[in-house]
Amino acid sequence: MIIDISSDNVTQPTAEMREVMLQAEVLGFGVPEDRIVARLEELAADLTGKEAAILMPTGTQANLVAILSQTEPYQEVIVGPDSHIYEQELGGAGAIAGVMIKTWANPGIPTVSVLQNTIQPSYRFPTIASPKPALVCLENSHNASGGTVISVEKMRELCKVAREVVPKIHLDGARIFNAAACMQTTVRELSEGADTVMFSLDKCLSAPFGAMLCGSAETIARARRFRRMLGGYIRKVGILSAAGLVALEKMKYRVAEDNIRAASLATRLKAIEGLVVDPYPVPTNLIMINFRALGVDPQLFVERLKKEYGISSHIYGRYMVRFAIHRHIGPKEEDHIASAVEKLVLIMRSDLELDRKPVRQEQ
Ligand SMILES: *Cc1c(COP(=O)(O)O)cnc(C)c1O
Repeated sequence: MIIDISSDNVTQPTAEMREVMLQAEVLGFGVPEDRIVARLEELAADLTGKEAAILMPTGTQANLVAILSQTEPYQEVIVGPDSHIYEQELGGAGAIAGVMIKTWANPGIPTVSVLQNTIQPSYRFPTIASPKPALVCLENSHNASGGTVISVEKMRELCKVAREVVPKIHLDGARIFNAAACMQTTVRELSEGADTVMFSLDKCLSAPFGAMLCGSAETIARARRFRRMLGGYIRKVGILSAAGLVALEKMKYRVAEDNIRAASLATRLKAIEGLVVDPYPVPTNLIMINFRALGVDPQLFVERLKKEYGISSHIYGRYMVRFAIHRHIGPKEEDHIASAVEKLVLIMRSDLELDRKPVRQEQ
């Protein structure tokens, strides 16, 4: 059995997605009669409570276009130090949008005071030399901190503080449906304070491709030009959009199952002696295991888990291993993962003890 929990972007399209793709009308790029793309964009706008939306090839490009559309070169964009935008998008904001990036001090979702301390000092009393803040980017759920979430109330507080000095807010909501399921709220409510929202179609929603960027009609009109500039328009995209529509119509609530499965697996993992699951309880579909206390090398753990147990996972930073739970992880897979990790941790720990035993000297 091969189990891939290295990411939730490994999901296969559903049978219905494959069926609608077979049937889909395929038109050229930007043909106004392309009702499938138009419907997908309308639906995304409606789900996030924004005026308009645009289909993007990837979340990374959607984040970049959100930045391009809401800033001018040399202005400042404020992000988290371990945000996807900062850590995994290769400085596109600087290289292509020409903005300066400022990060707040602490990893994860910022507290109100952390955000306040980041955005206040130079902007409150600007001099001729002060940077001009243009955009704050938040992330919900927050990938690097183990799928932690921003509640509707917290979002309101953060946006209020941000808006005192920064005109625009972008929400990287790659996994916003998992966040909504976790807090039993709607994507619309979680998007309320943000000017633009990005979410992925191809992670837990299982579409073969795509991300949506949603915002005001004016911003999305700008986004269309920047998508063109980046070569992010896709011809004959109706065939893929048809699957995207199934993702939005049929899959958005079932991601709750992934959160529940992750919570259950995390509880079993946490019961393994020496294993630290952090955060615990697991809020959404991502499980982070911290190997620091255990002393086991996470790199070796990931390699052996794959080679000996057929489980593909993802190393994160120096001490963390991430398991991403998705539609293909059912009760059987959960059992296999739990027992494989238990065995492997036991083996790797006893190897360590052997290493530590002093070699007895001949008298
Ligand atoms: C996956 C992800 C992205 C980027 O999406 P891609 O489609 O892989 O480019 C952005 N932000 C977060 C939080 C993500 O998890």
